[in-house]
Amino acid sequence: MKTLNVSVVTPDGPVLNENYDMIVCRTDKGEIGILANHIPLVTPLEISAVRLQKGNDWYKLAVNGGFLEVHDNQISILAQSAEKPEEIDVVRARKAKERAERRLQSKQENIDFHRAELALKRAMNRLSLKE
Ligand code: ATP
Repeated sequence: MKTLNVSVVTPDGPVLNENYDMIVCRTDKGEIGILANHIPLVTPLEISAVRLQKGNDWYKLAVNGGFLEVHDNQISILAQSAEKPEEIDVVRARKAKERAERRLQSKQENIDFHRAELALKRAMNRLSLKE
């Protein structure tokens, strides 16, 4: 069976470069599953989990938005950040979640609510990967 080469890169450097049978990810238009021989595609990704299948095993990555490109069985994900479950610091993510929630509940005018919402999504995404 043909496989997909998946490469994930962030501003901090490469996170992953391996072959998988299938990848499932959340785009701005909903969840998609990609197998070998998929048509070329470029799409934004949500702050979400990317799931990767190799044989009977599934792997996960927490990605912070970015873009996914599919071309000739090569998948490239460029994201602001991407972490494997074992790299996620739960205490840090919990603190980030609490900080974002406090900001969202605050009545202060100088709060950037959109920024706080994104921070909350990132923290919840990281925590959900550890569950
Ligand atoms: P924080 O407020 O804790 O910095 P954040 O969501 O604002 O969280 P990002 O800007 O998304 O953090 O990421 C900055 C860098 O820190 C990235 O390299 C990211 O992979 C890493 N990072 C952020 N939170 C965690 C975490 N809980 N565990 C491991 N790495 C993290």
